[in-house]
Amino acid sequence: MTGDRHTQVVIIGGGQSGLAAGYHLRRLGVDFVILDAQSTPGGAWQHTWDSLHLFSPAGFSSLPGRLMPPQPGEEYPDAEHVVAYLGDYEKRYELPVQRPVRVLGVHRERELLRVETDSESWHARAVISATGTWWRPFLPAVPGRRDFEGVQLHTVQYRRPQVFAGQRVIVVGGGNSGAQIAADLALDSDVDVTWVTQRPPRFLADDIDGRALFDVATARRRALDEGRTDTGGVASLGDIVAVPPVREARDRGLLTARPMFTRFHADGVESADGRRAGVDAVIWCTGFRPALSHLAPLNLRGARGHIPTDGTRAIGEPRLHLLGYGDWTGPASATLIGVGRSARDAAGEIAHLLRG
Ligand code: FAD
Repeated sequence: MTGDRHTQVVIIGGGQSGLAAGYHLRRLGVDFVILDAQSTPGGAWQHTWDSLHLFSPAGFSSLPGRLMPPQPGEEYPDAEHVVAYLGDYEKRYELPVQRPVRVLGVHRERELLRVETDSESWHARAVISATGTWWRPFLPAVPGRRDFEGVQLHTVQYRRPQVFAGQRVIVVGGGNSGAQIAADLALDSDVDVTWVTQRPPRFLADDIDGRALFDVATARRRALDEGRTDTGGVASLGDIVAVPPVREARDRGLLTARPMFTRFHADGVESADGRRAGVDAVIWCTGFRPALSHLAPLNLRGARGHIPTDGTRAIGEPRLHLLGYGDWTGPASATLIGVGRSARDAAGEIAHLLRG
C-alpha cells in the first residue's frame, strides 16, 4: 500500500454503469472517484467478438445526458462505436476515473467503508459497485469435460470464425451470445458448426429489438411500483433477439439447435442416445455470474451469488449500492439505456444518506 485517501463515494468499475453513477453523483454535488481495472475506457465492450453489434439503434442505447451518436452506415452500432462513445462520455463530463486500479476488497471500518486496491486504500461514506459480469464467465459441469482434448473457450474468449477454419465446432447455449456466435461461425463456410441448447431456443419476433425490451422492462417496473401483478418482464417474450446475422443464418437453415450432449470423450461428445461425434472445439456461451469477489469481506452473499438488495441498496449494508448486474439491481439495468434510471436512484439515495 502506498497511500490512504478519502472521498465521499467510491465507484468500483468504470464501464457504462460506473459512468452513469458518476454522472448523477456529479449533478448532486457529491465528491467521488471511479476506480477501474481496465487500462482504457469502455468496460467489457473492449473485449467482445469482432462482429458484435448492439441489439438497439444508437438513439436507444444512450447513457443519461448524452445521446449516442449514430454510427455511419450501421443502424445497430458495433462494439467499437460503444467504446468510443463511453470514452467521449467520461471526458465530456470530466468523470474522475483512475486506471488501471483493481479493487481487492471493501471493508467496514467504523463509520466508513475502506476500499483496498492494488495501489492504495480509499475511505468513503458510501460505495457503488458496478463491476459487471464479463469477468466471471460461467461454465456448467458436464461429465468428462476434463478428459476432452480439444479446445474449450467461453464467449469472453471468442473473437472471429477464421480461427476455426476447417474445424468441427460445437457452440453451447440458447441465449443471445450462443445464437450470435453460432450464426457468426455458420455464416463462414469454412467452419463445421453445431449449435446445442438445453431447451429449444426461443427467438423473439423479428420486429422486436432492444427498444421493445426496454419498454417491457419499464412496464414491469411501473406495475411493481404500483403494487400490480408482475408482468413477467422481458423473459416472458423469448430469449434471443433476432439481430440481422442471426436472422440470416436462421433463414438459410444454418441455425438449427440440437439437444445438449450428455458427456465428453477425449475426442468429442456423446448424445443422450449414445451417439458419438468428433469435435475439435467447444465454445461455451453459458452466461456469467456477477463479479463480486471484492465484496466478500462484507459477508453479504445471498442466493445464486447475488447480494440481497432493495432497489440498488444492499440490504445488509446500506452504504453499499450495486449497479448494472441484471434485473435484480433494477429493471434493464444491465443495458446502456436502462442503467441510467437505476444510477439516478442510487445516487439520490446516497446523497440523502450523506446529508443525514
Ligand atoms: P462492464 O462493462 O463489465 O464494466 C465493469 C468495469 O468494472 C470493467 O471496466 C471492469 O474491468 C471493472 N472491474 C471489474 N472488477 C473490478 C475490480 N475489482 N476493481 C476495479 N474495476 C473492476 N446491452 C445493451 O444495452 N445493448 C446491447 O446490445 C448489449 N449487448 C450485449 C452483448 C453481450 C455479449 C453481452 C455480454 C452484454 C450485452 N449487453 C448489451 C449488456 C450490457 O450492456 C453489457 O454487459 C455492459 O458491458 C455492462 O456494463 P457494466 O458497466 O455494468 O459492466
